[in-house]
Amino acid sequence: MPNMVIWRSFHIPFVASSQQHGYTLDQVHPSKRFLRRVVFSSGDLSRARISHQRALVSRDAVQVAIKSAAQSLFAVLFPSDCRICRSPLTTISTLPVCGKCLAQIVPLEGLLCRLCGEKLFSSFTESEDGPLCGICRRVQPQFHRAAAYGGYAGALRELIHLFKYQGTRPAGKLLGRLLHDVVTGMALPDSLVVIPVPLWSGRRQERGFNQAEAIARAFLHFQSASSIQLETAILVRTRDTVSQTGLTRHQRRANVRGAFAVVRPEKIKGRSILIVDDVMTTGTTAGECARVLRRAGAKEVFVATVARATKEVGLGAVYREGPSLARGTSA
Ligand SMILES: [Zn+2]
Ligand SMILES: [Zn+2]
Repeated sequence: MPNMVIWRSFHIPFVASSQQHGYTLDQVHPSKRFLRRVVFSSGDLSRARISHQRALVSRDAVQVAIKSAAQSLFAVLFPSDCRICRSPLTTISTLPVCGKCLAQIVPLEGLLCRLCGEKLFSSFTESEDGPLCGICRRVQPQFHRAAAYGGYAGALRELIHLFKYQGTRPAGKLLGRLLHDVVTGMALPDSLVVIPVPLWSGRRQERGFNQAEAIARAFLHFQSASSIQLETAILVRTRDTVSQTGLTRHQRRANVRGAFAVVRPEKIKGRSILIVDDVMTTGTTAGECARVLRRAGAKEVFVATVARATKEVGLGAVYREGPSLARGTSA
């Protein structure tokens, strides 16, 4: 156990020092210092010896404080196990996820729909301008283009859940970096307004934060261009929506229809917008946000998410959702 090794390096010197000078933990507690001072001022010890003893007490009090600080630091830096696979952690990190799990977070590969980023499994989806999924072939999406870093499954799904539902805030930085990778690959215009998908106020209060906004903020740390600005108060959610999980495409559209509004259209008029979210399922939520933003005057709307639920699109346009969506998503 790594914590045993580290702990001993603090513990042994302290115990040796305490034993050598005959102190117990109680005796060196700062609250006992006054009592000790009274004892030594009774006159049977020389002034030099009192001074020496006071110095020792003070030194040990400092050691107690260091020990306490080390313990607190230790608890932060050395959570016992990886929060995904439960194996013991062996490296110092504020993110309690092991290297093996992190190595499993890989970008989507293969044939992807050029408009919505959906994973494709058939060469029949190829067209002159590039691969296109059956849905985008039938109906042009409201957004210009959407892309995600990886599939909403495995370690990436777990990482998002740690961040979203279990308060593992250091995961946000990594999610922001993954989003940065996505955006870099999208070759977007230099000047962009970044808009996170808003949460309904009740949901935000319950969760304590909007994960899309937190990821967007982390993403901006990796951007050097000053022409990319974050706007969190332009697009608002006007009502709550039920989980999109288990709904048909038609029901999903009805669920989000009219759930968003633009409150300051002058800020986006003629601008290129980048909508940011943690997960995209079918793109219905992102599509509705894009529709509302475009109607309010946005020039074009792009969508970047950390993860995307993948479906198989073959000859029969089969749609498949894995157990990864069991907790429900809003997209
Ligand atoms: Zn792990
Ligand atoms: Zn598509």
